Amino acid sequence: MTNKILRTGKVTGLAAVLALASCTSTTTQQSQQNTTAMEQKKAETNPLLKEWTGPYGGVPAFDKMSLADLKPAMEKGMALNLAEIEAIANNPAPATFENTIEAMERAGEELNRAFTYYGIWSSNVSSPEFRAIQAEMAPKISEFSSKISQNEKLFQRIKTVYDNAQKNPLPADQQRVVQLVYENFAMEGADLSPEAKKRYAEINKELSSLYTAFGNNTLADEENYVTYLTKDQLKGLPESFVKSAAKAAADRGQEGKYAVLNTRSSMDQFLTYSDERALREKVWNTYYSRGDNGDATDNNQNIAKILKLRNERVKLMGYDNYAEWRLQNRMAKNPENAMALMNAVWPAAIARVKEEVADMQKVANATSKTKITIAPWDYRYYAEKVRKQKYDLNSDEVKQYLELGNLTQAMFFTAGELFNFKFTPVEEGKVPVFQEDVKVWEVTDKTTGEHIGLWYLDPFARQGKRSGAWATTYRAHTTFDGKKTVLASNNSNFVKPAPGEPVLVSWDDATTFFHEFGHALHFLSANVKYPTLNSGVRDYTEFQSQLLERWLSTDKVINQFLKHHETGKPMPADLVAKIKKAATFNQGFETTEYLASAIMDMKLHLADPNGLDPDKFERETLAAMKMPKEVVMRHRTPHFGHVFSGEGYATGYYGYLWADVLTSDASEAFEEAPGGFYDKEVAAKLVKYLFAPRNSMDPAEAYRLFRGRDAKIDALMRDRGFPVPSESSKK
Ligand SMILES: [Zn+2]
Repeated sequence: MTNKILRTGKVTGLAAVLALASCTSTTTQQSQQNTTAMEQKKAETNPLLKEWTGPYGGVPAFDKMSLADLKPAMEKGMALNLAEIEAIANNPAPATFENTIEAMERAGEELNRAFTYYGIWSSNVSSPEFRAIQAEMAPKISEFSSKISQNEKLFQRIKTVYDNAQKNPLPADQQRVVQLVYENFAMEGADLSPEAKKRYAEINKELSSLYTAFGNNTLADEENYVTYLTKDQLKGLPESFVKSAAKAAADRGQEGKYAVLNTRSSMDQFLTYSDERALREKVWNTYYSRGDNGDATDNNQNIAKILKLRNERVKLMGYDNYAEWRLQNRMAKNPENAMALMNAVWPAAIARVKEEVADMQKVANATSKTKITIAPWDYRYYAEKVRKQKYDLNSDEVKQYLELGNLTQAMFFTAGELFNFKFTPVEEGKVPVFQEDVKVWEVTDKTTGEHIGLWYLDPFARQGKRSGAWATTYRAHTTFDGKKTVLASNNSNFVKPAPGEPVLVSWDDATTFFHEFGHALHFLSANVKYPTLNSGVRDYTEFQSQLLERWLSTDKVINQFLKHHETGKPMPADLVAKIKKAATFNQGFETTEYLASAIMDMKLHLADPNGLDPDKFERETLAAMKMPKEVVMRHRTPHFGHVFSGEGYATGYYGYLWADVLTSDASEAFEEAPGGFYDKEVAAKLVKYLFAPRNSMDPAEAYRLFRGRDAKIDALMRDRGFPVPSESSKK
């Protein structure tokens, strides 16, 4: 996933994430405020607001981060930004692109810097102290955002520029910025009556606190519900897991024990390998009960409140439901299109689960001492046994060839082939980092040597770091105000090895590593002029990253980089063949666990929220969908952070599948080309139409330019080993 906390498209991005309040200041007050603000700007002393200095066009001062500066920085950053916005809104000159839209694109520099640090504290180095500040700041940020998106004078100026541009179109990129900015404001209720605007802002303020609470509850359950094992409970577990579990226990003051952390990677490994069925059930229950324990960190109340408030907010603007409002500027356009795609895939997915369960039951019958029926906590365990039996593929053997350093080099190689990028390590100490494990590389053009940006990598799991993997930017590419180069970052949760030990990762984790790097390449390859054009379209922005995953299994990568960590020998051809053969393995499970969450996300937001009981709704919806009892949603509602700890993925979780239709289809474009995945001509088109333009072009149009037609669902069904529908449905 991408992490774009309030950072897409400056002010409009802020408006898009949060929302709207009346601004009653007069012009005189404003210009006074503005003068003061400008003076403050010059004399800025707060390290979190200061202009980034140092090499590469300036870099964040991650070595100067002190929580004591955060609140004042955020408050001052918001005040400065508001003063800039007021100056734009109250400009006596007639509204033009330059004095309104371009001025808005320029505004909020200090706040953007403060948000970069805020994002680091929130995702990479969180602490109870930070969370207290976050809880206090969330409603204030919401209020701030509302002041901008509900600024009547500002909106009228935007509307004037927009209306004029309809009559006399501007250059293409300016026209696109105007359209996106105008639509964002309109979507955030800029056209509402003063009363409705007031309520709109109240709702958003309340929502922002609920999102924070939801996220913090989930994190608290991940940190606090740890399962400790004794030495006699380790049967079946790989040595690497045991080692890191021992360290994790020691880190938590439980020397001599073994900690199964309540995170996806820890749970996933334990359920795959542990021979102890009762413990598997316990770990499974602990993980899938996050936010649902009926204790102080239970999220059910939060969900009910969030759904109600979201519904009320979009009704103020005349929409039937949240999904309809949200999808209007997505590639899918409306919930019906998104549901149609999910419904087209769902029957094949659950039919495949039946086959998978039957295969697993056979293994269980033959190997288990007692008679068992496959339960959800058995799925990963017996799937692994079937995998070995059917494909003779041993995940642990595969891991020996997936060493983190080699994988990193493999990604750089891929970037070199497709994007002509070169990655060079930045010497330690030259660029500040927020944690000693973070490493930085300089990205340049292979041919011209031109500096393109920096790439930061924060690889390891630790306390206070959120789970999963994500990509983000500290600075995006723009040229409208002098060229700014990209600062992109990737973040993972690989288990940090004991000193001197290699980091060996699973095939899935290696795939995710490539995925997040795809986001980074999307940031780094941008050639847009204005910040707003860097914004992502939710159901499109996962496409570029998903597509990049495909290079992991190309021959060139395998032969050069997937080398045994001890012998240095490349992965043998028969193991590669087995991996490829097993690619469609367990697709029933994977597609079903994902789709169940995606469909739930959509249905929760299409339903009448009055009196909605999240637990009951989840149960009944799954029953109506004929959800196989052996599979659980990938993210159950009480910890579905994509959807409830913010709005980024709300009614947007389907986007991964939507993007995957494009991914499979685009991937076939490479397969069909003479040079395969390294075909220069297709690669050039890929960069030109699908990466570099970001949001400066309509995604559907960009895709047609790349492929010569719209994407079809067929390639996706083939990739997952599902039957291809007889009449190929277009999307
Ligand atoms: Zn992603």
